Amino acid sequence: MKRHTKIFLGLIIGAAAGVLSNKFLPGTLLLEATQKYFSDPLGKIFLNMLIMMVIPLVFASVSLGVAQIGDLKHLGNIGLRTALYFLLATTLAVIIGLALVNSIRPGDYLPEETKTELLASYSSQAAELKDTAEKTGFGIQILVNVVPRNPVAAIARPNPDMLALIFLALMVGIGITMVKKERVQPLVRVLEGINDVTVAIINIAMKLAPFGVAALIFSVTSRFGYDLLIALGMYVITVLLGFTLHFFGVFSFLVRIFARYNPLRFFRKVETVMLTAFSTSSSNATLPTTITVSQENLGIPAKISGFVLPLGATMNMNGTALFEGVTVLFLAQVFGVDLTLSQQVIVVIMSVVTAVGAAGVPSGAIPLMIIVLGMVGVPAEGIAIILGVDRILDMCRTVLNVTGDITCAAYIARTEGVELKQ
Ligand code: ASP
Repeated sequence: MKRHTKIFLGLIIGAAAGVLSNKFLPGTLLLEATQKYFSDPLGKIFLNMLIMMVIPLVFASVSLGVAQIGDLKHLGNIGLRTALYFLLATTLAVIIGLALVNSIRPGDYLPEETKTELLASYSSQAAELKDTAEKTGFGIQILVNVVPRNPVAAIARPNPDMLALIFLALMVGIGITMVKKERVQPLVRVLEGINDVTVAIINIAMKLAPFGVAALIFSVTSRFGYDLLIALGMYVITVLLGFTLHFFGVFSFLVRIFARYNPLRFFRKVETVMLTAFSTSSSNATLPTTITVSQENLGIPAKISGFVLPLGATMNMNGTALFEGVTVLFLAQVFGVDLTLSQQVIVVIMSVVTAVGAAGVPSGAIPLMIIVLGMVGVPAEGIAIILGVDRILDMCRTVLNVTGDITCAAYIARTEGVELKQ
């Protein structure tokens, strides 16, 4: 059986078991014990196994990628094309989201008592998030932090600062191109060694994936409040419709036109990545899989995937941008805030910017979105309304986020004269 089929089976079994336990065993000791002593730890071990490889992999792959591209002008050219592609795909995503939310107007379907209930039951969580958002801020400091004063401190925290890590690796790569080859060869060898060993470990971790994915999905589906999905039905449908349009419309178009590759075949080649993204809800945790699968299945060379994909995992979040646009407008509708055209343009710009700034971790988008809400005069506490369904939407948007990254890597590979594996 192929790896992605096994993972898919794990996903289905985990989801079915979770939904059934949620219906028939809610609040029982058996379910609680299964979650606490079985599915939660198993899921976490799988996640940790992937995440523990992210830092060495990003460091080695970005610095080697830059060193192998070699010529700085060429690197700048690839970087510019990558950035423009990210911008195009993300902007299209937000525009789709805004068009849908303006025509469906899901906010008009939310009954007043559901709104009051949700605001009350998620208020403390919302207040905490608002606090985080205020502490994070969204000023020029974010740009300053890209250049880490102390790289170890930037990395050695629960959510490492990926942009700082990428910047450090970029500089090391550039440094390598500037030093005499025989002097720097040992360092390159070490980085290559780290890269290869990391990939080997990821392949071991992916052997665990069918079980890890089943456990992660079980943990989510057995705890999920399905009533909420119905209460917020129109909103959820708007977001999912947007994701579907972006996935099959925009991605197919980009893959066909920019990467000159059959879109359906492309999606099939990256199934494992999509399944990992769906179950982990994290672009960062999926990154090792994204890099290995795009090299092995699509033949995207390491120097391109190693450079484009870490940047993508951190900066290119199509699903997140679409979700933010829809959510901000949905909440504006719920609170009766009429947004003018120019305010909607601000929502588009800010959704793109905050999707770049959001961390590739579960619910990474939420704190920054709170700031956007404030900017257009929607009460920040309103975020409470959607928190209950965020996990499910997060799983879906992360699939778009990582798939978008690979479409970009495929495009860059094609323009660099690479023949992609069919
Ligand atoms: N979970 C998303 C990711 O990792 C970020 C978000 O939209 O919250 O890509």
